[in-house]
Amino acid sequence: MRASVHAGRRAVVIGGGLGGLGVAVRLAASGWRVRVCEQGPRLGGKMNAFERGGFRFDTGPSLITMPWVFEELFEAAGSSLHEHVRLTQVRPLADYVFDDGTRFAYTTSLPEWLKAVRQLEPRDCEGFLKFMRLGARLFALSRETFLRRAPASPPDLRSLKALRHLPLRRAWGNYHSTVAAHFRSPHLRRMFDRYPTYVGSSPYRTPATLAVIPYIEYAYGGWHVEGGLYRIVESLAGLARGLGVTLHTSARVKAIEHENRRVRGVRLADGTGIAADVVVMNGDAALTDELLGGLSGNGHGMGAQSERSLSGFVLLLGVKRRIEGLRHHTVYFSEDYRAEFSQLFDERRFPDDPTVYVCAPSRTDASTAPEGCETLFVMANAPAAAAPWDERQTDEAKARVFERLSKGGFPDVESDTVVSDVWTPGRFARDYLSPGGAIYGTHSHGWRRAFLRPPNRHPRVGGLYQVGGSIHPGGGTPTVLLSAQITTDLIGRHER
Ligand SMILES: Cc1cc2nc3c(=O)[nH]c(=O)nc-3n(C[C@H](O)[C@H](O)[C@H](O)COP(=O)(O)OP(=O)(O)OC[C@H]3O[C@@H](n4cnc5c(N)ncnc54)[C@H](O)[C@@H]3O)c2cc1C
Repeated sequence: MRASVHAGRRAVVIGGGLGGLGVAVRLAASGWRVRVCEQGPRLGGKMNAFERGGFRFDTGPSLITMPWVFEELFEAAGSSLHEHVRLTQVRPLADYVFDDGTRFAYTTSLPEWLKAVRQLEPRDCEGFLKFMRLGARLFALSRETFLRRAPASPPDLRSLKALRHLPLRRAWGNYHSTVAAHFRSPHLRRMFDRYPTYVGSSPYRTPATLAVIPYIEYAYGGWHVEGGLYRIVESLAGLARGLGVTLHTSARVKAIEHENRRVRGVRLADGTGIAADVVVMNGDAALTDELLGGLSGNGHGMGAQSERSLSGFVLLLGVKRRIEGLRHHTVYFSEDYRAEFSQLFDERRFPDDPTVYVCAPSRTDASTAPEGCETLFVMANAPAAAAPWDERQTDEAKARVFERLSKGGFPDVESDTVVSDVWTPGRFARDYLSPGGAIYGTHSHGWRRAFLRPPNRHPRVGGLYQVGGSIHPGGGTPTVLLSAQITTDLIGRHER
């Protein structure tokens, strides 16, 4: 986009999540006058932080992948990511702990990793390499197509070149079956089956194309941001302000105003009207129709409970001692993974025996905890709930999480915990206006849900655009920023 074409035109972004900030920065850099209206008291949406007693917690993402996507955004604003934040690659990627006592580190050093695989099941070395090759080809296919373009865009030369990767026999099947076809070891199967949860989905119901996720993490690494991932939000907010963006917090939009199928602006809950040439919805796509006064455009089932991706049950614990031997990331697997997903998606209840993920950023980044202490982010998958989460469930969920940790050899930290906070699906729903507390919009079960997410440009109202994890191409921090790039490109093309 050239600044001269758009200079002075007005855009309002509904929501100051990562997607909203990404669009705001990109639009402002090309001359738009941008206002962001965030209903919550802080910017960042699900990428947020909580600080107390010298402990600095990220309350959402604990790992970023595809760091170049973040760099591109800062560059689009005439800056550089490295001037603002320091990224460190987490090595090894994670420790995995299983119910039968098996434990190993997943390292990005290929010789070391193949040695570990050989000890589990020698024939799986070849399976691992083949599985990565499948992910690599899927990434080559999607990198300049699905991940960079609106679904209906005509293909360009680069996307046509990517089509040579299309004859991927395995990619058309079911994710879990594909994992099982590559690995004999039950431990490796379990470990690779966990990746669809990165988009809030079940390995037993997603297409095998999600094999691109473990490939991206292995090939390009998992990254931590020094001082916590929220530093990215703080830097983006600073960058946005520097470009003249007005950032409003505690400003809930209650209606998108439109006339003759063209946006006119937004109205806030306190009655204030803000006129705009373009409106970008960063809140969950299931809420767009409601803001339009019932005019539908995003398709049916968006808000249905059965279509929602996973929510989470998160404990933030500030512990006044070191936990020796603990890695930055550790996963403690439940005994029966299939039963866990059946309870999450069929029965829509918190699992009897949850798989528990522990992130301890203080293991590698001393700035996140007081000296001699640990900052712990403990998370289990939870169902997105139709009814508000009954807070009486919280103690029971906590007990199950600690039982799993204890079985996995995690020490009892209760008496040393000096700061604690709990996030339930109910709190995710309330604080981010995310239906059911779902973290990634709709789940990616089946082809339609995985690849046909609501569009970045609203099909029925001119000047209305959408961005974020519930929109094409999907959830997770780098994907949300790709969504912001696609949305801004569309605005550039259609709003001249
Ligand atoms: C616990 C947890 C762990 C995660 N782990 C990872 C991870 O390790 N790696 C990773 O890459 N991703 C992870 N994610 C996912 C990632 O955080 C999200 O995909 C991403 O931050 C979503 O950004 P967004 O802009 O799409 O939406 P959001 O962050 O939901 O932002 C939307 C904003 O819109 C606001 N809003 C909605 N409606 C209105 C309205 N009417 N008026 C005004 N404002 C409104 C909301 O308050 C919200 O702030 C995790 C998320 C959570 C919650």
